Amino acid sequence: MNKLALHWQILIGMVIGTVVGIGLNLTASERETEIPALDPRLPETIQSAFISDTTARTTIEYTKKGEEETPVKWTIHPLGGEGNNVTSVKELKKVDAFAADIYLAHGQSTAKRFGGMMKSIGGLFLRMLQMVAVPLIVVSLLSGVLGLGLATEPKDGSTSDSDRPAGIGKMFTRTLLYYVCTSGLAIITGLLVVNIIRPGLGGNAAGAMAKDADAHAKPLSEVLFNQVEALIPANPLGAFTEPNFLSIIAFTLAFAVFALRCSRETQDRIRSLAEAGLDVMMSMTMAIISLAPLGVLFLMGYVSATQGTEVFSSLGKYVIAVAAALALHACVTLPLILYFIADRSPLDYVKAMSPALLTAFSSASSNGTLPLTMTSVRNRAGVSNRTSSFVLPLGATINMDGTALYEVVAVLFIAQLHGGQNLPLSQQIIVALTALLASVGAAGIPHAGLVMMVIILQAVGLPIEMQGIILAVDRVLDMARTAVNVWSDSCGCAVIDKVTQEAETLEENLTLPLGG
Ligand code: ASP
Repeated sequence: MNKLALHWQILIGMVIGTVVGIGLNLTASERETEIPALDPRLPETIQSAFISDTTARTTIEYTKKGEEETPVKWTIHPLGGEGNNVTSVKELKKVDAFAADIYLAHGQSTAKRFGGMMKSIGGLFLRMLQMVAVPLIVVSLLSGVLGLGLATEPKDGSTSDSDRPAGIGKMFTRTLLYYVCTSGLAIITGLLVVNIIRPGLGGNAAGAMAKDADAHAKPLSEVLFNQVEALIPANPLGAFTEPNFLSIIAFTLAFAVFALRCSRETQDRIRSLAEAGLDVMMSMTMAIISLAPLGVLFLMGYVSATQGTEVFSSLGKYVIAVAAALALHACVTLPLILYFIADRSPLDYVKAMSPALLTAFSSASSNGTLPLTMTSVRNRAGVSNRTSSFVLPLGATINMDGTALYEVVAVLFIAQLHGGQNLPLSQQIIVALTALLASVGAAGIPHAGLVMMVIILQAVGLPIEMQGIILAVDRVLDMARTAVNVWSDSCGCAVIDKVTQEAETLEENLTLPLGG
């Protein structure tokens, strides 16, 4: 019997995970636990405890012996609220470990308990991807750049298509141009959609506010300077262990470029080592990827079992605006670029990239998905190694169309709620430019976009606390924008591969009659 294609397996895993998660969410997401006095589950100092758990809100109340009049009460709610409120169990653990422990041990609803288990199991798959990410980037960059060196000095005219010459500088310029253009188009789409739908005007979108959502923002100039600093790692080994992708890419590139200036013998040695390493890392990654259907199943199970649905009704228009803008960019703009510039069928390409896109969606991390993106682009979409080894690692860190678009819609939504009207055009331009830079600065990890948003809010003088309003739906939107981020990187590979090939053919045609 023929084995089902990987993308179908992943899709099935996704559906099963979602159905199981929603089933748990609908049937087992509410629980009330009363722990009476003298119950052995309570430590001696505690009189009694009461825990109420739902997907949207958890309350933990307990009284200390001798202090029955003044019970301690905690609320865990992503939208925040009054008094003793925290947004996560992790936060609660820091301020009141007892409350967190008793909740985790005795008060969690079945949906959250199973959700937590599924998160841990899905996390194993993500760990495996993380495990291969750094070595894979290093060997593929090295073999890519040293492959260019090989091509600049053809020995016997036997260089293959994918190894023909192209300056590293040109490749970079093209890559950066692609990043800026597509992120710019994504931002324009976001601006248009949020100005047409106006999700923050006239509705009942505002919920409660969070106390202080990551209010410790650095100024934008500092964030960008940090990125520049990351390009020069003071301790390259430290960068590898952290890992800081930008530093790793910069150091590996420098290493490869300087290797090209060494003797032919040195170049050959390093190249053959890198190529051998790439062979091993690719087969290791392929083995991990075969586990993607299971990984995706557990991750989707976790998300759909633990996310509350009530927030969607109050933030519905906002979610629709972000989703519509992301869909426009992913299903219209990028496919048009792919079709007209890269000369590829968008449908075939999306099919080839589907393992990476589905994993990006369920993991909400473009860095985590990187090994899968690299393998899909090369083995399933047939993009050359030298292009993908440039475009993808760099893209996972700095090219985030989905994130840039999301920042624009979210900040303008907050502005509409806050001021009761749209921001003036001049302010919208500031939002657009800052969003572009913030997306460059955002790491390819879950919720990074939310953290970077603080910078944009500050740039146009909006209260950071209002971020609390959109916190509750961030996970779902994060999944969608991460898939768009990875899709844009993947399309970039096809585009740059094609443009590079055409430029080379042109160069060859021009030099042949002259040079012979
Ligand atoms: N999670 C996104 C990514 O990894 C970044 C973001 O939060 O927007 O691509």
